[in-house]
Amino acid sequence: MKKKMMNNINPENTNPLLEAWNTPYCTPPFDRIETKHFKPAAEEAILNANSEIKVISENPEPPTFDNTIVALENAGETLGKITSILFNLNSAETNKELQSVIQEISPLLTRFSNDITLNEKLFERINHLFEKKDSSGLNTEHKILLERKYRSFKLGGAGLSGSSKERFRVISEELATLSLKFDENVLEETNSFELHITDKENLEGLHDSLIEAAEKEATSREKKGWIFTLHYPSYVPFMQYSCKRSLRETMLKAYSKRGYNGNEFDNSQNVIKMVNLRLELANILGFSSFSEMVLGDRMADTADKVEKFLDDLYNASKPAAFRDLETVQLFAQESGLNDKLRRWDWAFYSEKLKKKLYDFDDEILKPYFLLEKVESAIFSLASDLYGINFTAVTNIPLYHNEVKTFEVFDSDNTFLSILYLDYHPRPGKSGGAWMTSYRDQKNENGIDTRPFISIVTNFTRPSDTRPSLLTFNELTTFLHEFGHALHGMLTRCTYESLSGTSVSRDFVELPSQFMENFAFEKEWLDKWATHFETGAKIPGILVDKIKEASTYNEGYACYRQLSFGLLDMAWHSILEPVTKTISEFEKEAMSKTELFPPVEGLNMSASFGHIFGGGYAAGYYGYKWAEVLDADAFSYFQETGIFNQKTAESFRRNILEKGGKEKPDKLYLNFRGKEPSIEALLKRSGLK
Ligand SMILES: [Zn+2]
Repeated sequence: MKKKMMNNINPENTNPLLEAWNTPYCTPPFDRIETKHFKPAAEEAILNANSEIKVISENPEPPTFDNTIVALENAGETLGKITSILFNLNSAETNKELQSVIQEISPLLTRFSNDITLNEKLFERINHLFEKKDSSGLNTEHKILLERKYRSFKLGGAGLSGSSKERFRVISEELATLSLKFDENVLEETNSFELHITDKENLEGLHDSLIEAAEKEATSREKKGWIFTLHYPSYVPFMQYSCKRSLRETMLKAYSKRGYNGNEFDNSQNVIKMVNLRLELANILGFSSFSEMVLGDRMADTADKVEKFLDDLYNASKPAAFRDLETVQLFAQESGLNDKLRRWDWAFYSEKLKKKLYDFDDEILKPYFLLEKVESAIFSLASDLYGINFTAVTNIPLYHNEVKTFEVFDSDNTFLSILYLDYHPRPGKSGGAWMTSYRDQKNENGIDTRPFISIVTNFTRPSDTRPSLLTFNELTTFLHEFGHALHGMLTRCTYESLSGTSVSRDFVELPSQFMENFAFEKEWLDKWATHFETGAKIPGILVDKIKEASTYNEGYACYRQLSFGLLDMAWHSILEPVTKTISEFEKEAMSKTELFPPVEGLNMSASFGHIFGGGYAAGYYGYKWAEVLDADAFSYFQETGIFNQKTAESFRRNILEKGGKEKPDKLYLNFRGKEPSIEALLKRSGLK
């Protein structure tokens, strides 16, 4: 009470976001931060950052790495702290009030970053340094930092003048609008379709939980019977379990025609406009194609490399894909289908065959994956591999009382990181799982600032009668996010913008996907996975089934991912504007990966949100690329022993500690002693 009164008397000093934090390790003082603090804090931090930028750009001294690049790296520190709390909270614990604050702050942030990119004096200094980068005695880390800063200015339109600058601005804005419109159309078309069933017979094959949900959906729309929609939780199980072939056909066609119905929500023209504008944008910036522009800082840094990669994988997985197709086709015939397998039959028969072959499901596995046990098993795994230790602490301020916090120490007891774990769904939390940070590592003038890392998930909440038991998928999710967290916690870099997970997009999933491999290892599961009630060890036969089922229909799955990767690259590697229709273009790009008899009137591109709504343009291949890396890396562990200290040490020193301070291919080579090959992935997926 007393504190509150003081606050009112002296408003200048009351915003905790602008103060030095007097908390353990200087962690964010969540207990004192209120939503109303964000806007004034952001405004003040932007003002301060702007004057820091001004000092750099107006500096009368000639540009040096320190007075320009390092100074720019360090500018806006408070703003960074504030926005990381703001956006992290908006994902993990949001509310209407916070959302509206974000809407007010976002335009300020956009303007702030545009003001920097389009600051000509500043870019002149960076450009000057960039041109001399090979003759000015910079080490690799310096050079990478300089290249990254230069690139972000360049791709933001810095250095353009006159009409091209104006055209750049127009195109950027138009692309942003088109991309939003694209997503809105897909959402509209996803929402507007319903499959209304009134005859109970048409529910044949569906599980009770799905039927219940469909009944609820119908009631909420004031209808009788059952309603199925194109949203994943309804669409996916319907396609897997509905015995009614014609209804599956209806559903699949509706799903695959989203954005392609010739109505006001049709995306055909939007797609053509976007790829042509992206090409023009790339050309203005001096690149021959959009993919060349985007791939510049990737591990696969040219379109040729990506295309060769997709081609290699295509050739390797083709026989397996057709084998999978044939197996399911045969099974379908035995089950009474007198026709060729069509697209709407795949999920149904493939799921049925899987059940027949492996006969196990999540309910059988869950009792072995008690959340608390999984948590300590994953911590022990990190201790076994890297010698690090976790100590639970209760003195760190929290944004929600469910969050757990840990101090993480190295084997010699030096402090590495704070780790926040936030497990269960809440109304203000987004879906899915992610790793994030409240502070990133940096080493300034010999002072190593350690990071604050957070893992947020939506694992099943314990009930009054049952503790939190994870599904196998939740177990791999935990391992995945923990892999990202290790990347963030173990890092040792000089510059914040290169540390931890700040690496190329097609490299960032290596540490995370790498960790998932352990879930399939008997040697690891045997150490800890016991039944939460009986204490019995997980049966060997279950572990074998987990492993066997992991390769089921992988040929088909790989082929399908490739077809999307190829389509993405086709749209973004054009050198001339597209004059064909969306359908003609897509048919050509996807013809070589077609497994089923063609169906007229369907279109993938018109609802391909990853590349036209989200940020995966010329990046969809990255999913498979990272799989090649993690499979190859893990095969090295398997060769040398999955807990081999020397191999783990090498993975830590060469990959996990290095962040982005060295090129990823170099890092990988240093760890592995050779370049990654697709062999390990083919073997793991059962394609060989
Ligand atoms: Zn990830």
